[in-house]
Amino acid sequence: MAAELFCIVGLPPRDLTTEKMILTQCAVCATELGLSLGKKCGRCSTRYCGPECQVQHWKEGGHDKLCKLIKKAGGAEQYNANTKYTEAVAVAVEKCSEDTKGQTCYICTQALHWKTKEGLVRMCACRGTAGFAHVSCLAEQAKILFAEAEENNLDWKVKNPLWARWHTCSMCEQDYHGVVRCALGWACWKTYVGRPETDLARGSAMGALGGGLSAAGHHEDALTVGEADLAMARRHGGSENDILCVQSNLASLYDNLGRSESASRLRRDVYSGLLKLNGEESIETLAAAENYALSLIDPECVAEARSLLRRTVPVARRVLGESHDLTLRMRATYARALYDDPNATLDNLREAVSTLEDTERTARRVLGGAHPVTTWIGENLQAARPALRAHEPS
Ligand SMILES: [Zn+2]
Ligand SMILES: [Zn+2]
Ligand SMILES: [Zn+2]
Ligand SMILES: [Zn+2]
Repeated sequence: MAAELFCIVGLPPRDLTTEKMILTQCAVCATELGLSLGKKCGRCSTRYCGPECQVQHWKEGGHDKLCKLIKKAGGAEQYNANTKYTEAVAVAVEKCSEDTKGQTCYICTQALHWKTKEGLVRMCACRGTAGFAHVSCLAEQAKILFAEAEENNLDWKVKNPLWARWHTCSMCEQDYHGVVRCALGWACWKTYVGRPETDLARGSAMGALGGGLSAAGHHEDALTVGEADLAMARRHGGSENDILCVQSNLASLYDNLGRSESASRLRRDVYSGLLKLNGEESIETLAAAENYALSLIDPECVAEARSLLRRTVPVARRVLGESHDLTLRMRATYARALYDDPNATLDNLREAVSTLEDTERTARRVLGGAHPVTTWIGENLQAARPALRAHEPS
């Protein structure tokens, strides 16, 4: 599993009249339009490859009826975000329905949301009766918190943990996962999509949406968002740090789609860039090191993965602590680089199994048994034990 780097995409203020994206295809024939090709409906900004598709959409595609509605909602991008958000909430509620039976929202104290009538969700490390909520209530909280921070003109250093409410549970302080993360990604995007392209929150919302889409397994969509994000960061002269962050997200997306060589190359660049920029103790550098190491786990490069982790795991243990999920992931990745090697020695295999047993115990205690990091460590343990048994002298 790849660590997701979250960061704020800081763009310098500039001309604000440029168009919005994410909808990068012709609404009729799905031709890829990138950031600025094609033409737009003059009223609602729905995008087409050219006049033919636009006319067809109006006459036969029902756009004559929808156009007004889309315009009223705030344009094609906003309308799209609203629609996708509603769908994503329904999916998340359905997926959580077993778990949430008989529970109430810790924010509004109701089972059904008073306005939207949506049900509850919970996909984090909360257990027992804790952490059940409506996506709408979580989104509303995140929005209000961040709005207060903006009103008071707080620095991004202070705003960052507040922004984290868009992807982190305030009760257990762990990231949401799966379809709940996806629904919140759409919630976040829907909240800030109407802002100018150069707005900081809008840029970060694009990252939150991309993260949510990949968490739910929508890898092609996530790649579309990631590529638009990178193009935009470059177009607006984003800082080196911002561009590295976006590139890192993009590498995960390549990975998810099986494009591992492109991914590994990007990860190497991101790691060395962040190391130079932020130093070895920065959490972003450490996350990038883990991602790069993971991409090196194949018979030819696995020794390189081990040596990278031998340098970086001690830093993570010292700086982040033993129970931080990144420390746990990095240690498990190191174990994987030990056992997942055709030339592994008996000592390597023993060290791998004991490391995985140790990290699994901690992950269970800190993150809970259902957390993806715990499950992932468990899977590695399942693979490492037979490898050790096969090598052990009888
Ligand atoms: Zn077209
Ligand atoms: Zn229109
Ligand atoms: Zn609620
Ligand atoms: Zn939680």
